[in-house]
Amino acid sequence: MLQKIVISPRQLLSRAELEAYDPASEPWQKQFARRYTHHSELKDVLNNMEDVNETVYEKFAVSITPYMAKLMDPHDPNCPIRLQYLPSRHEEQKAGFTTLLDELGEEGDTVPGTSVVHRYPRRVLFLVSNTCSTLCRFCTRKRMVSQPSGSVHKDEIERSIDYIASNKDIDDVLLSGGDPLTFDDERLDYILGAIRERAPHVRFLRIGSRMVVQLPTRVTPELCAILEKHRVQMVNIHINHPKEITPLLRERVKLIQKAGIMMGLQTVCLKGVNDDVAVLRELFMQAIEMGVRPYYVYSTDMVEGAHHFIVPYHRMLELYEGIRGWISGPAVPTFVVDGLGGLGKLPIIPTYVTEEIRRDGQGTTIKCRNYKGDTVEMPGLGLDFRVPSQSRA
Ligand SMILES: *Cc1c(COP(=O)(O)O)cnc(C)c1O
Ligand code: SF4
Repeated sequence: MLQKIVISPRQLLSRAELEAYDPASEPWQKQFARRYTHHSELKDVLNNMEDVNETVYEKFAVSITPYMAKLMDPHDPNCPIRLQYLPSRHEEQKAGFTTLLDELGEEGDTVPGTSVVHRYPRRVLFLVSNTCSTLCRFCTRKRMVSQPSGSVHKDEIERSIDYIASNKDIDDVLLSGGDPLTFDDERLDYILGAIRERAPHVRFLRIGSRMVVQLPTRVTPELCAILEKHRVQMVNIHINHPKEITPLLRERVKLIQKAGIMMGLQTVCLKGVNDDVAVLRELFMQAIEMGVRPYYVYSTDMVEGAHHFIVPYHRMLELYEGIRGWISGPAVPTFVVDGLGGLGKLPIIPTYVTEEIRRDGQGTTIKCRNYKGDTVEMPGLGLDFRVPSQSRA
């Protein structure tokens, strides 16, 4: 039976209490209620905190679980975890290019009256929750995740499930938000069950959640039983730095895997946090070590207050070059830019065919290079080569 947990008013942990705190010692709901929500509160537990104007909060709230605060370096302002979650003065500065609140144009692709983004053929993004356990300063969905209400309206959820149920060509549903795991087990059980029952044509049901990483105790045997019961096939987690991988996280990832669910990793490429070949190699190797397959590396979106995290396209290509060929193939994710205004995910991949050489009477040879820069010419692959404009009938 699902157990009801009574949550007492917010009791923040002091520095000494945080040091002694065992995040696995209390139900996740209790820890959730203890989140730090203002930089002044964090000043009590971290040194060298940057002071920011209250105006920062008008754009995007602050919210940090004690578990995440405990992972932060108490002294180093450049700690890769602090950079992701603490508000910064950079957020008040102008970007030098246009930033938007809905940079990916998701509102335009949302089915009216629902929270379903239907952009691609056969699959939909279902934004079920509009809050997260810990808020990332670079969040692409700032327009919605900073809301106090916590969840998308019930009627909207029903209309969303109706839409999925009545569109028989939808065979893949991705639950995201915000974070679907901010819901209690009962609500998740209901939503997943309703999708399975009313939309039997859905073949692939997946969940994107960063809460697994930000508050690992959210993953319980009860939750995993619900995911298994409704045949959730994939859980994608979001990690940007190896420091976020802890024994507690590994333990809870294993619980999900034991329910027969494959796991993927999503990473956002962030200046100062992980725009570094060694950091990314280590992150991806640690991920496959725990059986989590690196899936996407996203460029930082041009959302308001996140411009200081943007890693230029050319640098992303360099990072990719430092990974492909140098570490295990299964540890190499696809690097993508999510196109402005709803163009969709665009893979950014260096080309390993460097030249096409036409030789009279011999056709075309292509010149290739490998990850180290060694080259070879391959006449066979160049046979019948036509420039794209000629091949278009
Ligand atoms: C990323 C995304 C998906 C899922 O894309 P996959 O490449 O299949 O993982 C679906 N809808 C939207 C709007 C997305 O941004
Ligand atoms: S976990 Fe994802 S949705 Fe939530 S604040 Fe971070 S980036 Fe945004």
